[in-house]
Amino acid sequence: MSNIVAIVGRPNVGKSTLFNRLLERREAIVDSTAGVTRDRHYGKSDWNGVEFTVIDTGGYDVNNDDIFQEEISKQVQLAIDEATSVVFMLNVEEGLTETDQEIYEMLRRANKPVYIVINKVDSSKEELAATEFYQLGIDKYYTLSSATGSGTGELLDDVVKDFPTTEYNDPFEGLPKITIVGRPNVGKSTLTNALLDNERNIVTNIAGTTRDSVQSLYKKFGHEFVLVDTAGMRKKNKVSEDLEFYSVMRSVRAIENSDVVIIMVDATLGWEAQDMSIFGIAQRNRKGIVIVINKWDLVEDKKTNTMRDFEAAIRHKIGQFSDVPILFTSALTKQRILKAVDTAMEVYENRKQKIKTSKLNEVMLPIFENTPPPAIKGKYVKIKYCVQLPTPSPQFVFFCNLPQYVKEPYKRFTENQLRKEFGFSGVPIEVYFRQK
Ligand code: GDP
Ligand code: GDP
Repeated sequence: MSNIVAIVGRPNVGKSTLFNRLLERREAIVDSTAGVTRDRHYGKSDWNGVEFTVIDTGGYDVNNDDIFQEEISKQVQLAIDEATSVVFMLNVEEGLTETDQEIYEMLRRANKPVYIVINKVDSSKEELAATEFYQLGIDKYYTLSSATGSGTGELLDDVVKDFPTTEYNDPFEGLPKITIVGRPNVGKSTLTNALLDNERNIVTNIAGTTRDSVQSLYKKFGHEFVLVDTAGMRKKNKVSEDLEFYSVMRSVRAIENSDVVIIMVDATLGWEAQDMSIFGIAQRNRKGIVIVINKWDLVEDKKTNTMRDFEAAIRHKIGQFSDVPILFTSALTKQRILKAVDTAMEVYENRKQKIKTSKLNEVMLPIFENTPPPAIKGKYVKIKYCVQLPTPSPQFVFFCNLPQYVKEPYKRFTENQLRKEFGFSGVPIEVYFRQK
């Protein structure tokens, strides 16, 4: 499970500047929620080879002072609950404010590492001014210039050093791990409970970074796997937009820890941007994917085409990687929930499948023979040999004379042929062309 570093602080102190610096060229995931001035972002970063997730908690556009305070304190509380460590950013230009003191009061009580960071310390002049912040009653702070990056090294050295060491013995080592993810209220807990008959056979708590995630063993109807449970946590929080944001983050961690991801969608709401983010995360992590459209019982006026149209609309939206099983369930009435389990296990097997080199060449070379890559400037690509790499998710290397002439459409063609010949439904696959 990855560690999460949340950056909190008043607006304009420089949170997003630091965030962008930590992310460098990596991709950020954006959460656009109504009510916030700026989107919240999270993304992956690493320091000295230690990976972590970093969140920029964004900012609210509220003029009323009371509401303003309230919003900030919600952000801070969520960061305390969900992050491994909290970077509390202050602005030397503005000095210590009352809101800063209130934020610090909350953080002080948190049982998490908190790093006090004085930002906009661009020169020795500000270095001196920063001493004002000792008024908080702290022993140590870090001075930073997010704009130039100076000071980030010392901060990150300590942040990374303090990450909890998760020496954890997985009692379910080797078993398939399946996670149900999706927006709040789609029915994740209902499905989990239905599958486990409200009775967790074995429950373990992973000594995770934040809230523990629950793993339950499912052993029925010829299947044995571990359900990694992200549902049912933080139900008490009423801040729905925050809840939603953090639920995506929690999904990210769960996805990283699984083999197959069941993406659950509410049939009455359809496929939305948030679902697409989750799909993208699962795909980039090369996990098996099953899409489950839940609450199908609520869809009235079902005609013969309703399912087909719904499915087609989703396939259209998910784009290029559309070879993904889509099922329609009702977790409430238990309709087709066992089908969802069967499908997830099929996808697990598809992802694990290793094609023998001899078989792969026997099948693929004639296809290349019949439909070679288009010649470029009179040059012909000759694909001579292929292998599947011994990776957890399927990756194939095709050796040829002129790999630089194999363009995206032909790579896609190759992927589609692999899917057609060997069956990789629900599994992202990688195709590489290399010089022989
Ligand atoms: P946020 O609202 O806390 O995310 O703050 P931003 O990252 O948007 O920064 C607010 C303003 O402060 C921007 O104009 C930044 O360019 C500026 N800023 C951020 N970090 C520094 C810094 O280290 N030094 C100086 N001088 N300005 C900074
Ligand atoms: P979670 O937040 O994704 O874990 O969602 P829950 O499992 O807590 O479900 C949210 C609400 O939707 C609850 O009131 C459930 O009873 C209801 N619900 C879940 N699945 C279904 C379903 O298939 N059909 C209907 N009609 N309601 C459902």
